[in-house]
Parts: sequence; structure tokens; C-alpha cells
Amino acid sequence: MQSKEVDVVVAGGGTAGVMAGLAAARNGAKTLIVERQRCLGGQFTAGSQGAWVGFSDKQKRIVDGLVWELRNLLKERNAIVEADPETDVCFLYDTEVAKVVLNEMLAKEPGLATYFNTSIVDVLVEGNTVAGLVILSEMEQMEIRAKVVIDCSGDAAVAARAGVPFEIRAKKDIQPMTLIGRMAGVNIERVQQYYQAHPPVHDGAVPPAWRDYKTFPGFMHYGLRDELEDVDLHPHLEYLRNWLAIFTSTPNPGEVTINCSGAIEAHSIAGFEDRARQEIDSQRCLYDVAEALRQFVPGFENAYLSVIASQLGVRESRRIVGDYKVTLEDFQAAREFPDSIGRGAMPAGAHTADGVTMSVYDLPAGQSMTIPYRCMLPQTKEGLLIAGRCVSYEPPVANCIRNMAQCMVMGQAAGTAAALAVRHGATPRNVDIPLLQQTLREQGAIL
Ligand SMILES: Cc1cc2nc3c(=O)[nH]c(=O)nc-3n(C[C@H](O)[C@H](O)[C@H](O)COP(=O)(O)OP(=O)(O)OC[C@H]3O[C@@H](n4cnc5c(N)ncnc54)[C@H](O)[C@@H]3O)c2cc1C
Repeated sequence: MQSKEVDVVVAGGGTAGVMAGLAAARNGAKTLIVERQRCLGGQFTAGSQGAWVGFSDKQKRIVDGLVWELRNLLKERNAIVEADPETDVCFLYDTEVAKVVLNEMLAKEPGLATYFNTSIVDVLVEGNTVAGLVILSEMEQMEIRAKVVIDCSGDAAVAARAGVPFEIRAKKDIQPMTLIGRMAGVNIERVQQYYQAHPPVHDGAVPPAWRDYKTFPGFMHYGLRDELEDVDLHPHLEYLRNWLAIFTSTPNPGEVTINCSGAIEAHSIAGFEDRARQEIDSQRCLYDVAEALRQFVPGFENAYLSVIASQLGVRESRRIVGDYKVTLEDFQAAREFPDSIGRGAMPAGAHTADGVTMSVYDLPAGQSMTIPYRCMLPQTKEGLLIAGRCVSYEPPVANCIRNMAQCMVMGQAAGTAAALAVRHGATPRNVDIPLLQQTLREQGAIL
């Protein structure tokens, strides 16, 4: 087997992973990102998300640093929809332009390499230290040894394989998956006029705190309940009446992103047959929604399904057991942690398991929760950091901590901490927190 040594290896070049790789390299570490897809960004790009959430506390911006640098690069390409950049909680962005911009950002770092189309298939563990990864490209395997491994796989796949304790809720409780897609050829003006004339009345799927976020820039609409009220649906489409669906415009004319529940009561991490069913159910759901929009919502008459995301959207899978688990109480108290590495302020809560509604806990405008470094440190193992949606938190905190802006913030912090650990011959657990915080602040982060 081939082998290679780096300072830092990032497992997964997704939402958190790209930022982890960039931050590690910018802070002097020889870094490798391993990504199984053909592009960087994970959910941010391959997942076709398009609504980048978590930027403000509704009064002021709470995210800066690498995330803001990326936002500015997208803005330069007219690939962002915004209303007021200092208070917007969300930016709508072009996921395809984002792929190219991320490549360009990473190409500027001489100490950073990315392997695409490459899967992590095993983890090297020596005693209680995670020492590297085994990766596979085509039929070729390589052993990557690293001083620090950052698990940005979304599923804590590396941590789990290494024996880190983790939590995962039962299928009956876990948040639904969604395959995101886009429709083109939409007459957005006509759609907006229709909704102005027919404001939603039966749309109970979205709690009030989220309805307020209709102040997102661009067009945003929830659910299909009103539109389908007087419509005779084929029995196999009846489920669409109630399922939570979010429709947002994009920076491109006539284009709408569809985010509608797909595979419910399913785990994304196990079972060959199960995982096949999740893909098929989600593709069917997306197609059904697009057809319903075309048939029943004025403005969609000539629209068509133009994109089915290349990555299924997994809202929830494993969460590691970290040195600290962020709680709902921390969110509600807008906790200021001494080891803060960033902030989040979007309403906490989670999608209900049946795909129909959401539970939501909001903070007053102007307040945010800090994210502690310790929630990225896995119990029982050294040499390993976690960033992204699989860090340590209680499920009700999910919608605040797993937004893309916050995943990127964690990525930047993990990459910076890894580089500092390498520089000072420390482990991630022994990193000097004041020095980490000072370095993050100097590089633009808001803690
Ligand atoms: C349906 C849905 C809607 C959402 N809506 C929003 C929204 O409107 N706004 C918002 O801000 N957030 C939203 N989120 C949340 C957000 O998109 C995710 O929580 C976040 O993107 C997760 O980032 P991550 O880095 O943890 O994972 P990902 O972005 O998924 O990155 C994980 C990466 O690891 C790679 N990987 C995994 N395993 C391996 C392996 N074995 N080998 C190699 N590579 C591997 C994957 O290919 C992927 O690129 C939504 C999520 C979902 C699912």
C-alpha cells in the first residue's frame, strides 16, 4: 500500500471540511483534504442547499473570518442574494459558482492538497491516538499518517470507526432526510403575485419563529397545504399536503430551490438496502413536489425539475460524545462559554421525525449562543477533532449549531487548533485556548 505523511488530514471536504483545510494550511500545517465526491463543499454545494443560514442575531452580524471571505467572493461573482448584509440571517447563493470559488480559494494555499473521488475506508489507531486514515481511489489504497485528524464527514464516521463514543437517535425520532432540488423556468413574479393575493392560511407546518424568517432575502414560501386544499390528489400524492416544504429563490432568474422532506424514519449510516431505499424515496418525493408545483401553483406552469442534488441531505446521524455536550439550556441562556470559538443564533429545534413540522426555540434579537471548543473534542481519543453537524450537542440544539455558517465556523476553529497543536507539539485536547482564540480573532472570527 502507498503511504503519505502530512501534518493535518481532513476527512471530508464538505461544509466544515473546506474551512478546516483552509484554516490548517493558512496557519502553517501541511494539510490534505480527502473527499469522496467530485467537488468541495458537501451539503453546501453537492447538496444543492442554496440558503446559507446563521449569519446574524437579527441585529448584527455574528459570523466573519473565512466564512465571510467566501461570502464576499460569491458576492463578487453576483452569486449571492442579500437584503442587508449586516443583519441578514441568511444569504441565498449559487451552489455551482460556489464549487468553483472553493476550488480557487484552496488553490491559493501551497500547503494544502485535496484528493477528490477518494473514500476513507479505515482509520489508523495507535493506543488511544488516531494516527491517520486509509483511503481508496478507484482500486488503489493509501495510508495517510497525520499528527492531527479532523473528522468532517458529517456522520462522525472516522470517530465512530476509531471507537469514540457517539449518540444516534432511534429511527422513529430522527430528523427526516431531504434530497434538495431545483426548478427552472419559474415565473417568480407571477408566483409572488399569487402568494400576495393568497397568503397562506392553513400552513401550520412552520412555527411562528420560522415564519418570521420569511424576511430572508428573495422569495421564500413554506408548505403546499393551501395550494392543495381543494385539489383531488392521487392517493400516492396525499402525503404532500402535510409535508414540510421550503421553497427559495436563487441568484438566477426563474430558478427555485425545493427543500422538502423525503426519507423519514431512516438512518443514513447503515444498511445497503435501507440506503438504496432512502435515495429512491427522496428522488420520488422531489419529483412529486415539482409536479405538484407545476400543476397547482400559478407561475410554475412552464417550470421543470432541473437539478436533483448529487448528495442526499442528511439532517441528523451520529453525534460524538465530546468533552462538552451543548444543551438546549445553553442555547436558551445564550451561554458565553470560556472556550468559545464562534457563535450561533438561529432558532434551535429540529424537524419532527414524520417530516411534517418543526419544533423551534428562538432567542430574542441581539442574542446569540457561543460554541465551545470542547464540543469538537471526542472523549477517549487523542489526535482527533470533529467539526460540522456531528459534534457534541443535544438534538433540540440542532437547528442552531448545524447550520452551514456554524459548521464552517467550527471548521475554521478545528483547522486552526490542529495547526497550533502541530506547531507546539501539543494534542488538540491540550491546545492553548487563549492562543487559539487570539489566532481566530486575528483571522477575523467573531467569538
Ligand atoms: C435537507 C437539509 C436542509 C438544510 N437546510 C439548511 C439551510 O437552509 N441552511 C443552512 O445553513 N443549513 C441547512 N442545513 C444544514 C446543513 O446543510 C448541514 O448541517 C451542514 O451542511 C453539514 O455540514 P458538514 O460539514 O457536517 O457535512 P457535509 O457538508 O455533508 O460534509 C461532509 C463531507 O464528508 C464527505 N465524506 C463523508 N464520508 C466520507 C468518506 N468515507 N470518505 C470521503 N469523504 C467522505 C462527504 O462527501 C461530504 O463532502 C440543511 C441540511 C439538510 C440535510
